[in-house]
Amino acid sequence: MDDRSPYLHPQFECLSRSEIEALQLERLQATVKHCMNSPFYKKRFEQIGLKPSDIKTLDDLRKIPFTTKQDLRETYPFGMAATPLRECVRLHSSSGTTGNPTVILHTQKDLDQWADAVARCLWMVGLRPDDVFQNSSGYGMFTGGLGFQYGAERLGALTVPAAAGNSLRQIKFIKDFGTTAVHAVPSYVTRLYEVMKETGVDPHKDTKLRVLAIGAEPHSEEQRQRIEKMLGVKAYNSFGMSEMCGPGVGFECQEQNGLHFWEDYYIVEIVNPETLEPVPDGEIGELVLTTLNREAMPLLRYRTRDLTRVLGRTCPCGRNHVRLDRMRGRSDDMMVLRGVNIFPIQIEKILMSFPELGSNYLITLTTDDDNDNMTVEVEIAEMFTDDYSRLQTLTKNVTRALKDEILLTPHVKLVAKGSLPVSEGKAVRVVDKRKVYQ
Ligand code: ADP
Ligand code: ZN
Repeated sequence: MDDRSPYLHPQFECLSRSEIEALQLERLQATVKHCMNSPFYKKRFEQIGLKPSDIKTLDDLRKIPFTTKQDLRETYPFGMAATPLRECVRLHSSSGTTGNPTVILHTQKDLDQWADAVARCLWMVGLRPDDVFQNSSGYGMFTGGLGFQYGAERLGALTVPAAAGNSLRQIKFIKDFGTTAVHAVPSYVTRLYEVMKETGVDPHKDTKLRVLAIGAEPHSEEQRQRIEKMLGVKAYNSFGMSEMCGPGVGFECQEQNGLHFWEDYYIVEIVNPETLEPVPDGEIGELVLTTLNREAMPLLRYRTRDLTRVLGRTCPCGRNHVRLDRMRGRSDDMMVLRGVNIFPIQIEKILMSFPELGSNYLITLTTDDDNDNMTVEVEIAEMFTDDYSRLQTLTKNVTRALKDEILLTPHVKLVAKGSLPVSEGKAVRVVDKRKVYQ
């Protein structure tokens, strides 16, 4: 490894479009063939009379039916496996709050390739073996733990598997170990900063922090900029999902102009979630991913439910891997209030544009007198609660700005700093208490 090279895997990162497509076709054909070892895919292909040899071009991908989370649930736990269990060395399972949990299996080769992908992402944003990488995300089944752990080790950084929570200890580690890079969910980063402030730690002077990987939950550009300013770092968006291994699927480069999705690992499609037809570049649709190098559990045309769009297929960084916009959230995150479609991220964007407001907020939907209403509670950044006229003006301005964005007037409540719940994992931003009429 040459520390001065901007690329960890130049042979893959710097492919031209036609080289990417040639590699994808070769890997797709091998993947589809291998899928016939999976009871689920074998049956599915037989049902529609499709044979692996029918996949002759990349466009032929569209002959293959989509795979959904429901399919994963129905085949729980091992019905998707394409390799015998004795060749698998790890499984990750999602929480399963709605129905059966899902299981993703990995062979040793899968884990090695996953570690390579994460190492490539971290290298891309300037981490090198001299760095000290602290992983402040949950471990265990949450793939942001082990995924970043092995990736950062593969890169050669000194890793600190701090896991989530215990902010005082996190900050002590950051100071004592000279931590230069942290991975955490964005909502937890703002919490860490609050505790630094409370305990008199100035991240600009008292720490060596310079790079943050933030992801696992939707966040706005405004939130990113806040984090960068607060901590004096560059914060890079990291996209991952358990079904695709975990982190390492999409990551921003130093241009910060969208997430590069690694097209030697995945085929990226953006489709209209209703018609399931591809949408043109620039148009928002559902992200659909096909794995290209997975052994234990290849997935063909997996519907992620995440909504995004293609921003471009070239980049000043020299990588031609497709650039996708930050996720708007999942189609399941969309709130429909009085017929209007609203994403939590739209609200966050507005709240974060007010420097007087903190970073923690909660949206509650209720039915009052047969009307559906939205309440937005948001913490204020500094203590000026006794200044009523200032609070009133701020409430009015926030309400107006939200109305301009979501076309409905929410009830805005400014609350004291630290009064809303904080989670160490993914933040809960919406509580829906509406009555459901049958
Ligand atoms: P679960 O499916 O239980 O939430 P995962 O950890 O697999 O567990 O979550 C993956 C999902 O998290 C993605 O499908 C996406 O909705 C969300 N996500 C992950 N990274 C990001 C990101 N950088 N921006 C927005 N959403 C993200
Ligand atoms: Zn780039």
